Amino acid sequence: MSKPKALFIFGGTGDLARKKLFPALARIIKRRNDLKAVYSIARSKREDWEGIACNLDAGFTKLCHFIPLDVVNWEDYKKLSKELQKLKDYELIFYLSLPPFLYEDTILNLGRLLRNFSNARKVVVEKPFGFDLQSARKLNSLLYRFFVEEEIYRIDHFLGKDTVQNIFSLRFSNIIFEGVWNRNFIDHMQIVALEDVDADNRIEFYDKVGAIRDMLQNHLLQMLAFTTMEPPCAMAPQFIRDEKVKLLRSLSFFDFMKGQYEGYPKEGSRTETLVVAKGYIENLRWQGVPFYFMTGKALGRKLTQITIVFREIPKSFVSLLDCMPKQNRIVFQVAPKNLLSISFELKPPTGRFIACPIETTMKYDLEEALGQTLPEAYETLLEDILDSDQSLFIRADEIEVMWEKVEPLISSEDNPRVYPRGKLPDFAIEFIQRDGRSWFL
Ligand code: NAP
Repeated sequence: MSKPKALFIFGGTGDLARKKLFPALARIIKRRNDLKAVYSIARSKREDWEGIACNLDAGFTKLCHFIPLDVVNWEDYKKLSKELQKLKDYELIFYLSLPPFLYEDTILNLGRLLRNFSNARKVVVEKPFGFDLQSARKLNSLLYRFFVEEEIYRIDHFLGKDTVQNIFSLRFSNIIFEGVWNRNFIDHMQIVALEDVDADNRIEFYDKVGAIRDMLQNHLLQMLAFTTMEPPCAMAPQFIRDEKVKLLRSLSFFDFMKGQYEGYPKEGSRTETLVVAKGYIENLRWQGVPFYFMTGKALGRKLTQITIVFREIPKSFVSLLDCMPKQNRIVFQVAPKNLLSISFELKPPTGRFIACPIETTMKYDLEEALGQTLPEAYETLLEDILDSDQSLFIRADEIEVMWEKVEPLISSEDNPRVYPRGKLPDFAIEFIQRDGRSWFL
């Protein structure tokens, strides 16, 4: 029988809690009976919170509580202390869903308070974890003053997505792919996260961050790690994370360009709203294979995917046909759909044996094929936290190596190139064309 658990959401009236955490929790409590209490913590009035969280589901309402508390005010923690005294045998889970500038004060105050309690505990930290390598290291050391790594859950919600997890399953549970998953067969990979929306309505936040910190440092590098890491020696969190760290350490960026969409509201700002980058992984499996990354806003469409482009077939065979078959591709699409697709060449039905092949794509829509909607990323992540499974959470050394890798891109003095809203800019197209390749979007 697992320990009763109490979850404390700092920032329990915010956008993330409202849209993702509470709806996921309302579903989770139907499946498990060890989550006995959910506390929302914010400065707002109780009435502001009641409308949001507790009208979701009658069963859930019974578990919901609210603690009005300002995380920077030590005196306010007396209210939390009073609640904790009622939860003697409980495992305590503290979820920081706060504006990131409040993380340090919250960890300090919470850590101080927890010295008076002996309960099992976990702390969950939302993205962004740090602003650069130095601040990420500082945040890690602060956490280590009060918690051990096994109690810390750093979130990258992309890892909660089924399609991303399926990269792992496709690679390591099937024999037909592993043999070709290397430099001998793969020409290059493309990892993209294009957004239709701009950043205008959250410009105060976004202008301090930009596309590299917001997307490349975390989501895109995690997608890369899942796609290119070595198999772990066992399906256990420490081994999975060991392999991801090893892979990320071998990455180097070689070239990049930044862009900013036309009419960006902050005049004079050099914050990039788009980045294209090329990197290499210096190891036996991937030596010489380029990895192209692109992420940005106001690009006219939403598309998040990884495309694995295989090498061309040998020219001697092709010359017999007098035409060039297209390169095979495997695509993991995360958005707008959860798709796996494989493109390959087949003979057209011309009635003759000798013919130039045509490209055929086999698409596998995960939801259609399985006949059910996929779980929300936050639902999977919350379940894993409750189960103490850290496989999908980022370890301290991992977060630091990811910052280390993007530091040169962040600190470059280049002015971003201005691009028109609503389409892919020419310089992003040329970035890959210079290498004789093109984006598959
Ligand atoms: P948000 O809408 O601005 O909500 C912030 C929450 O923090 C509110 O509940 C706010 O309530 C509370 N808060 C602010 N100052 C406080 C203080 N001094 N003491 C106590 N509570 C305080 O932010 P969000 O969009 O939910 O994002 C939260 C975190 O999740 C951020 O780190 C963000 O980067 C991350 N995240 C969000 C999303 C998303 O979809 N929204 C996705 C990925 C990651 P009061 O103002 O009433 O105190």
